[in-house]
Amino acid sequence: MGPRVLLRRLREIMAEPLDPQARLDRIVREIAANMVAEVCSLYVLRADSVLELYATEGLNPGAVHLAQLRLGQGLVGTIAASARPLNLSNAQEHPAFAYLPETGEEIYHSFLGVPVLRAGRTLGVLVVQNRTMRTYREDEVEALETTAMVMAEMIATGDLARLTRPGIELDLRRPVSFTGQAFNDGVGLGHVVLHEPRIVVTNLFNEDSDAEIRRLDNALGSLRLSIDDMLSRGEVNFEGEHRDVLEAYRMFANDRGWVRRLEEAISNGLTAEAAVEKVQSDMRARMMHMTDPYMRERMSDFDDLANRLLRQLMGRSPDDIAAALPKDSIIVARSMGAAELLDYPRDKLRGLVLEDGTITSHVVIVARAMGIPVVGQLKGAVSMSENGDAVIVDGEEGAVHLRPQSDVESAYAVKARFRARRQQLYRELRDKPAVSKDGVAVDLLMNAGLAVDLPQLADSGAAGIGLFRTELQFMVASTFPRAETQERFYRDVLDATRGKPVTFRTIDIGGDKVLPYFKTVAHEENPALGWRAVRLTLDRPGLLRSQMRALLRAAAGRELRVMLPMVTELGEIERSREIIDKEVTHLSRFGHLLPTSLKVGAMLEVPSLLFQLDELMQAVDFVSVGSNDLFQFVMATDRGNSQLADRFDPLSVPFMRVLKQIAEAGARSDTPVTLCGELAGKPITAMALIGLGYRSISMSSASIGPVKAMLAELPVRALASFIDENLAGVSARLPMRALLQTFADDCGIPL
Ligand code: PEP
Ligand code: MG
Repeated sequence: MGPRVLLRRLREIMAEPLDPQARLDRIVREIAANMVAEVCSLYVLRADSVLELYATEGLNPGAVHLAQLRLGQGLVGTIAASARPLNLSNAQEHPAFAYLPETGEEIYHSFLGVPVLRAGRTLGVLVVQNRTMRTYREDEVEALETTAMVMAEMIATGDLARLTRPGIELDLRRPVSFTGQAFNDGVGLGHVVLHEPRIVVTNLFNEDSDAEIRRLDNALGSLRLSIDDMLSRGEVNFEGEHRDVLEAYRMFANDRGWVRRLEEAISNGLTAEAAVEKVQSDMRARMMHMTDPYMRERMSDFDDLANRLLRQLMGRSPDDIAAALPKDSIIVARSMGAAELLDYPRDKLRGLVLEDGTITSHVVIVARAMGIPVVGQLKGAVSMSENGDAVIVDGEEGAVHLRPQSDVESAYAVKARFRARRQQLYRELRDKPAVSKDGVAVDLLMNAGLAVDLPQLADSGAAGIGLFRTELQFMVASTFPRAETQERFYRDVLDATRGKPVTFRTIDIGGDKVLPYFKTVAHEENPALGWRAVRLTLDRPGLLRSQMRALLRAAAGRELRVMLPMVTELGEIERSREIIDKEVTHLSRFGHLLPTSLKVGAMLEVPSLLFQLDELMQAVDFVSVGSNDLFQFVMATDRGNSQLADRFDPLSVPFMRVLKQIAEAGARSDTPVTLCGELAGKPITAMALIGLGYRSISMSSASIGPVKAMLAELPVRALASFIDENLAGVSARLPMRALLQTFADDCGIPL
């Protein structure tokens, strides 16, 4: 009997109206008979890391549900822990062999065990044993692995849950809590939606292997074509890493070994989809135990490729996926682009969980704009989650609770009520002026960049928009937005703000902000220090001119404020002004109504400007400190590198001195100075900024309430002297952050 017959028999058994134990008993008997083995046993992994014998043919039936091995213990535990098969002619000679007297297995010598895998996770172990000393053939290993897939399906669909004793849970349903980094505040309760979801293959067995192999060939053909097509698309910048990745995909898509394994699984009776999933699962399991980062990376390319192939086979489109979303979706992803997040309907999103990401990555900025809680840097989140699992995202603590127990859930219900009360307090503060305890007024502005941000202006009570990231509109588009589209968008923004000031930043692309349709330089060794922002727009003046024209026309009859990103030397301001002036002259010559006033500012993000602060203040109408970039350049610390995310503190003597010098230079020349990086958004850093002399700061809209509440209790003058004292001394007694925290605690300031 071959594996095809076995799979057919298993399918029949699955369809019969049996209770789960009887079904399992029949299955192991069938496998044993088919494989001419005296023993076949299934062990299932429980939440307490114990593998429990669930069914056996051949071993002592009394041992079922009693025989147990810990993960890593014995042969079965080793297979589960390593996710690798073991094929032994004399099991008892293996160093890991552990003798379980209750099973009576001592008379069996040869042993073949395979992990029961689903999406790379081990759910159990399937074993066959024989008295004689023999080595199982490759095709027998393959057949047992294929059978294990069926077992995985039974475990995952919950069929076996009815066999577990009260109080015991299967590993698959185990509640898991992770801690990562909090990227956006808020608490979200909902259900897992895996981004690029693993497609659940329900049709496991084929009727006709030849037809299935033809389907596979067709899908592989289309997959290869789509990759070739991506590679040959000239207008897209697929140089450097992108290209390497795609080349690797192409190589893999033609990889004979992969195709052979897929075809083999089909010959053994699986459908093309199930074959892809089986090979992918083996691959994932292997990947988990691989330490070489290069190989891991390559294996994950394979994984992506397998996903694409699955979608190809099942004809699934993104629209179908969006329609099927639960209304309380929490997206779980390894990493994600900003535009991809916007593909999800906002009203169904309750949170975002990322395995990677940093606080300043663009998907996180967009998620903040959408007001959803985000937790990142959670390794393993994707493989531990299943679509539809209950999950809580705590963007305050940076925690995620997967399949939470009821006490955790009720604790969060309390937390959610508490947050609601605090939100109520912020709402009450919304229409009150932003004034400190000792009467100092501070402009609390918000950052924005997309239409979804605009309603927050009224909701948060922000005094205006201090940073409008115009490049976001370009980043989420699939081609360059036309001049009219830009103009309409800017007009909508100005209409929505009803006279509150808005500062538009001219397009800040390059570096980590790539437009897929815009060819920049082929490959930059250090893109953050490369051809970007105002450097790029001065070399492509057409870009700046058309954006300025759109802005000037949109602001006709109103005030227009624009600022230039990443200014390095004063000449760049001068040259940009010339371009802007040319546009103004052009419009007025053709009789267009102009803005009532035009203010041009520079962002202070590059340290060179620190050494010409007085000249800078003279050259502009205002300055806005981009603390994200300024910090990265002053501290030589890549803002996107999660390894370094918490290593250096902006609330440190050197960086606070930098910030103070800027504020003082602004005050000397009466030039308004704002700060618009992430520093402005946390109450403790906002407090420090105000103490350093900043009277205008711009943050995400969700931060306005907490910062305003902090301000209301803040004695600004006392804080200013406190900071002066501690910044002046050569030997700071405590880190600045700790000192500031003590100051706040002593004054009863809510941080
Ligand atoms: C900054 O660098 O601080 C800034 C506000 O700009 P962005 O985060 O968009 O680079
Ligand atoms: Mg910047």
